Amino acid sequence: MKTILQNMRIIDETTDIYGAVVIEGGIIRAVIATDTVADAENRGTAGLKAHGDSVARILDGSTMRPGQVLTLMPALVDLHAHFRDPGFPEKETLESASLAAVAGGYGTVVCMANTNPVIDTLEKAQVLKARSVRLGLIDLYPVMALTRGMEGGELSGITALVAPSETRTPIPCPRMLSEDGRDVAGDARLLAAFAEARRLGIPVSCHCDAGGAEAETAKRFGKSREVWSRIEENVATQRVIELGKQAQCHVHIAHVSTKEAVQLIRATKVPLNKSGDETGFTLTCEATPHHLGLTEADARVLGAESWGRVNPPLRTEADRQALIGAVLDGTIDAIATDHAPHTESDKERGSPGFTGLETSYGVCMTELMGEDRLDLKRLSSLMSAAPARILGLIDRGRITPGNRADLIIVDTGASWVVNPQGFKSRGQNSPFTGRKLRGRILMTMHRGRVVFESDSID
Ligand SMILES: [Zn+2]
Repeated sequence: MKTILQNMRIIDETTDIYGAVVIEGGIIRAVIATDTVADAENRGTAGLKAHGDSVARILDGSTMRPGQVLTLMPALVDLHAHFRDPGFPEKETLESASLAAVAGGYGTVVCMANTNPVIDTLEKAQVLKARSVRLGLIDLYPVMALTRGMEGGELSGITALVAPSETRTPIPCPRMLSEDGRDVAGDARLLAAFAEARRLGIPVSCHCDAGGAEAETAKRFGKSREVWSRIEENVATQRVIELGKQAQCHVHIAHVSTKEAVQLIRATKVPLNKSGDETGFTLTCEATPHHLGLTEADARVLGAESWGRVNPPLRTEADRQALIGAVLDGTIDAIATDHAPHTESDKERGSPGFTGLETSYGVCMTELMGEDRLDLKRLSSLMSAAPARILGLIDRGRITPGNRADLIIVDTGASWVVNPQGFKSRGQNSPFTGRKLRGRILMTMHRGRVVFESDSID
């Protein structure tokens, strides 16, 4: 039985056509181009007929929103989210986070290991994975911590993992490792963890927001968070790049936020991109929608030590512009949410982070698209294809025959006002509350099944 999505603009990182997509068994079987939407009814339908008559379902863009062109894109891939499960159901659960993910257009999500207990063994990762498979909403990849209990001591169960490329059972291994906001203080210990990542052929997500002697001195001298957290990020970014080169592994820098870190990453990547790196050292990085869309001025309005608090902090307009420049020139590979739901009282007390899964697409469309900025193909690359590549997942992130039918239908012309009370996430801590965003996710498909439909679809 087939599902056909027709009369839509089809976009991925290399495609921008009008036409139809045929899905069967959760897989994209065919992509049929037509010259224009008006043309689709004639030539497109003729093309579809060639694919047989056993059509279970037709989703027609021209009838879903009459008079408007709907856009079909690959579902989004998030390299960085906090699901708070197990351990913090008052903030979020696997169920609420997964519903938030599909409402935000995500089909694949990497969730961080700073739960209670910490995800530091393959067994714990698999329990979470199995629960997610039963839910059937998204494809979840739990991260494993580098050290036991994230305490910076003995290495975690990563030493017992078998590389994804050497195993045949489905998804036995995490696709990313990370010590989250703690990093690992000792160089020898971090190098040992990096060596495991190299053996496994998977990236280590380095958050670069912990420690460093220079930052500690700045703190002791009573410098502001703005000052010491910038030193922290810049020094930590330099450190993980140097150690990554030594270990010859894949270092992925999480939530880049300073102009200096951007410049350091750019300077490191340019020679790598030119000649390739035969040692195996790879450097990728992500930026968050909130660092691309907001500054310290917004944090002050929200409450710098409460609702506007995030790690790394919202920075200056110059930093924000440097990030946008780095998105445009390809220095920044991917957009990741760093979805960090908290209760109201935790936020009042200064817990860092923002809920983000349900606003990221709209924020990126609003902040990054336009003349001399991104087009939809580049946006799709940053939010789907590139993060999928970073995870080594070659079966998603693009609309091409043989790929998984993880898809979203978007009304790129629609605008909406952010109201956290309508969120599926338990976290209402959005810094974008009340803002008008462009681009509305109307539908999310996971392996060809509709897992989210916006209320606004007739
Ligand atoms: Zn995080």
